[in-house]
Amino acid sequence: MRDASNETMSPDADVIVVGAGPTGTMLASELRLHDVRVLVLEKATEPSPMVRSLGLHARSIEIMDQRGLLERFLACGKHYPVGGYFAAIPKPPPEGLDTAHGYVLGIPQTTTDRLLEHRATELGAAILRGREVVGVAQDEHGVDVELADGRQLRGRYLVGCDGGRSTVRKLVGIGFPGEPSRVDTLLGEMSVDVRPETVTAVVGEVREREKRFGLGPLGDGVYRVVVPAEGVAVDRAAPPTLDEFKRQLLVVAGTDFGVHSPRWLSRFGDATRLAERYRIGRVLLAGDAAHVHPPVGGQGLNLGVQDAFNLGWKLAAEIAGWAPAALLDSYEAERRPVAADVLDNTRAQMLLLSIEPGPQAMRRLLAELMDFEQVNRHLTEKIMAIGIRYDFGEGHPLLGRRLRDIALKRGRLYSLMHGGRGMLLDPAGRLSVAGWEDRVDHVVDGGQELDAPALLLRPDGHVAWVGDAEPGLRERLRQWFGAPVLEENRGDGANRSGR
Ligand SMILES: Cc1cc2nc3c(=O)[nH]c(=O)nc-3n(C[C@H](O)[C@H](O)[C@H](O)COP(=O)(O)OP(=O)(O)OC[C@H]3O[C@@H](n4cnc5c(N)ncnc54)[C@H](O)[C@@H]3O)c2cc1C
Repeated sequence: MRDASNETMSPDADVIVVGAGPTGTMLASELRLHDVRVLVLEKATEPSPMVRSLGLHARSIEIMDQRGLLERFLACGKHYPVGGYFAAIPKPPPEGLDTAHGYVLGIPQTTTDRLLEHRATELGAAILRGREVVGVAQDEHGVDVELADGRQLRGRYLVGCDGGRSTVRKLVGIGFPGEPSRVDTLLGEMSVDVRPETVTAVVGEVREREKRFGLGPLGDGVYRVVVPAEGVAVDRAAPPTLDEFKRQLLVVAGTDFGVHSPRWLSRFGDATRLAERYRIGRVLLAGDAAHVHPPVGGQGLNLGVQDAFNLGWKLAAEIAGWAPAALLDSYEAERRPVAADVLDNTRAQMLLLSIEPGPQAMRRLLAELMDFEQVNRHLTEKIMAIGIRYDFGEGHPLLGRRLRDIALKRGRLYSLMHGGRGMLLDPAGRLSVAGWEDRVDHVVDGGQELDAPALLLRPDGHVAWVGDAEPGLRERLRQWFGAPVLEENRGDGANRSGR
């Protein structure tokens, strides 16, 4: 047993991440970009074969581009048009979406998980499987973790990325208020014994009245089957049986399609909950551990990856010792409202999917309203997560928003952001980041698409300042990147100014 109060004891890692899902591995990669020692503890001995998420929306695709991962993702995925994602209301997307990636990247979660895990390992994160966290205790200097096998580990910080039933969240006593599951849906992959034309015909007819139903072909006679469950399961962790699928298919579609040989079977509910807080001392939450909602609109994985993208550089700054006082708390201040908004849009979408006459009337009305360009744009940007604006105060319309990828004279903006550093984008080259060169790149470049005199970008691509005057810039540099390094203290490697 270790002495948790021993200040001088060297921790096993700077940051212990619990859970090697997409949130945990994305966070690990972000931390590794800044040389943070990361240990990811994952209870499962093998990656799950279960395919939950089916794709990435624009903001997550942008994130992969910003970190040089886009090629890998594109090689494994398929482009689908945007549109029809809000409550499955079939509307074409508005013209001129504010992104270089105006498409949905269809990619099974198992592939996303594999690519992100591979990336984290490649960058030097240690991912240990078969390690279930059962105890967490923190003191002033660090966090002690107890594993199911009795082993103890210690980190300076701990982030619970351990999914909707988060053990970390429960152990540190963070409340998770919201609504419990009221409807369950069965989901699995299995073979069917009827001809593809029959499946298509029956699915088309049933989906007219039941939107929570579908059989999607995966090849070789195997289908992804989605069907409403009979009720809400008491034991939420227990998988359903094939017989349960057969019974429900008969009830909903009048045939069980001769389903057999399941690859995996699961169920999911519509519980909608948001953690009361995202941080308690040295323990933080991200991804499903902080928020759960029904999968309508395909947003959960995207939201978790984006949490990790927001948190990574802030936690790294804390570890490196240059973080301004409020930086780590800005994670919750920025990301919790975004999650609350996603929860609300899924509540609304679930209602709009109901077959009751009232919600159906609302659905028709919303479909009419979506013919107004601004309404369609607002809802589309919500699902794609490209309309998010953090509250950095009054100012230029770009302030607080993430900057889309734009063409610079030397190439694409995002290709300069792979290292996860801040960036001063300064077309005229009249400004300076002197004192912050170890944290912020000074890029003297611009282009037709840059609609501002100069910009300061945080490592997550959000615009922290717009202007042309040095004093305002220095104030924002201090706010987001801490105190400048004095001239006499600057090391040789610090000067990366004026790239
Ligand atoms: C049917 C369905 C369809 C979905 N479709 C989409 C979609 O199209 N698009 C989208 O964006 N999202 C979708 N989602 C949501 C998405 O799957 C989740 O939001 C996403 O997996 C969350 O990632 P995470 O890393 O936060 O958590 P998880 O993926 O749940 O990972 C948590 C990890 O923590 C591990 N763990 C748990 N407890 C412990 C412990 N005590 N110790 C160590 N490890 C632990 C788990 O084994 C797991 O590997 C869907 C979800 C469902 C159910």
